[in-house]
Amino acid sequence: MATTQRTQHTPAPPHLLRMSRLMARTLREDPADAETLSHRLLVRAGYVRRASAGVWSWLPLGKKVLDNVSRIVREEMDAIGAQEVLLPALLPREPYEVSGRWSEYGDLLFRLRDRKGADHLLGPTHEEIFTQLVKDQCTSYKDLPVMLYQIQTKYRDEARPRSGVLRGREFQMKDSYSFDVSDEGLAESYRLHREAYVRIFTRLGLDHRIVSAVSGAMGGSASEEFLAPAEAGEDTFAQCPACGYAANTEAVTFPLAQAGADTGAGAGHPALEELDTPDTPTIETLAGLLGVPASATLKNLLVKVDGEIVAVGVPGDREVDLGKLAEHLAPAVVELVTAEDFTGRPDLVRGYVGPQGLGKVRYLADPRVAPGTAWVTGANRADTHARHVVCGRDFEVDEYLDVVVVRDGDPCPSCGAGLRLDRAIEVGHIFRLGRKYADAFGLDVLGREGKPVRVTMGSYGIGVSRVVAALAEQTADAKGLCWPAAVAPADVHVVAAGKAVQLELAERAAEELAAAGLRVLLDDRPGLSPGVKLTDAELIGVPWIVVAGRKAPDGIVELQHRPTSTREDHPWPAALSRLTA
Ligand code: ATP
Ligand code: MG
Repeated sequence: MATTQRTQHTPAPPHLLRMSRLMARTLREDPADAETLSHRLLVRAGYVRRASAGVWSWLPLGKKVLDNVSRIVREEMDAIGAQEVLLPALLPREPYEVSGRWSEYGDLLFRLRDRKGADHLLGPTHEEIFTQLVKDQCTSYKDLPVMLYQIQTKYRDEARPRSGVLRGREFQMKDSYSFDVSDEGLAESYRLHREAYVRIFTRLGLDHRIVSAVSGAMGGSASEEFLAPAEAGEDTFAQCPACGYAANTEAVTFPLAQAGADTGAGAGHPALEELDTPDTPTIETLAGLLGVPASATLKNLLVKVDGEIVAVGVPGDREVDLGKLAEHLAPAVVELVTAEDFTGRPDLVRGYVGPQGLGKVRYLADPRVAPGTAWVTGANRADTHARHVVCGRDFEVDEYLDVVVVRDGDPCPSCGAGLRLDRAIEVGHIFRLGRKYADAFGLDVLGREGKPVRVTMGSYGIGVSRVVAALAEQTADAKGLCWPAAVAPADVHVVAAGKAVQLELAERAAEELAAAGLRVLLDDRPGLSPGVKLTDAELIGVPWIVVAGRKAPDGIVELQHRPTSTREDHPWPAALSRLTA
């Protein structure tokens, strides 16, 4: 008893982790609910465990990777002069009422009530609280500029928490905020952050792109996202191979130039003709029946804008981007119509709407629905369509908007060449907020001339826990995880593949590597076959694997470089110099 206790509590030398004691149970099978590679591998390799939907526990190996990411983020934030703080995650309702986000966030916000009946929330992001902090602490222009950051747990009740730690309901974020007295000051704080982010993602070994973005609930004038290209990503970005233009597809806006030009509407087109088209409520069924391409049909989507029904027309082969539409019509609230909205509206025939019979319903359209163009579209009667429906002759467009979903090959808004679309994971987002929150909270400082000056702000986020998954997505291969050196949970994974001789050599190797300052994971687990240990080593994904195996009796180990799968035999001391070189 006494002996076991002593071994269990003997401190290991620094940087040496023994797998015989490490809480890192690997799994042979993928978790049933795992949709993405990083989710499967991080669970199977024992880095994280699911606590509940979108809520994760970080086990020892995972915590090390998370800490390595945080350390790099911290070093680069400190290097631009940002100061680290730690604010609460449990926040009072009041400041979020002041900004309007208590209600604007909708179901995304975790709201809770304390024993006295006061409302609270779990912070999804902290613009409000930082604004209040600076209002309390800074009184003069001499106190600014100031940049503050924290690495903290955030809470968002995501509709679809999935993909493991890629989209959690509880997750780690680095959020920072800049406070300046002038627009030039804000531009400089923004530039410093942008450059720090490039250094952070480069040091992390993450392939990334900077793209224009839409600002969403955050508000403010301009923002850019840092995206990590990966199949598992939920974002799509467009890039132009010719001029380098890059934007989140939500933020790609096409010029409206071609709209409005009157091309002598109707000239040369036959008169409008109604057609019997039974069972054709979709574009596909209609185009099939008539033998025309989908692009010759006009699709009319009904939406409610602040409760009023509005129709949006786009060519039948295109989709309406509801995000873009909402952005154009903000602050009006845009919702899809439901079956109930059709009751008492005999003029609106679901599936057979055409702009020629819409009466007072406002008609918005994509610029491709230009004056003089002719379409096949609904005839506002069930099972009936109309052809030769000409814009400017048979119907009018009230307003042209850029609302279609961007497609591969669409013209680049800046140079006209074909855009390329790729999937990516949003790992960072930087906002020039301007004075939105300073206005809401009355954040002024005394200016140089002795008069109050309104402060201007930036806010900047990095999804620290999401970065771990993004790195896993980009680097993993068929055998398992494969970490970039900067974030790996160890530098070297030493495997004792055999019996006493192998264990002895492995122990020696591990201790000497640790003494040389490398972080070592030693697989000293008794009773496991070499095959099982090697499979685990590959799954865990440390950059170097040292195997004390068949040639151990001659003092020879095998060095495996995980990312390149190269293998070399070396006598032990030579292997040490190879790894520490
Ligand atoms: P998304 O569009 O993916 O929901 P967001 O635009 O709402 O993200 P921001 O408010 O910009 O996110 O938050 C800053 C950063 O925090 C994001 O760039 C992302 O890296 C990270 N992040 C946001 N939501 C989550 C989440 N649910 N799980 C993990 N990381 C997240
Ligand atoms: Mg974002």
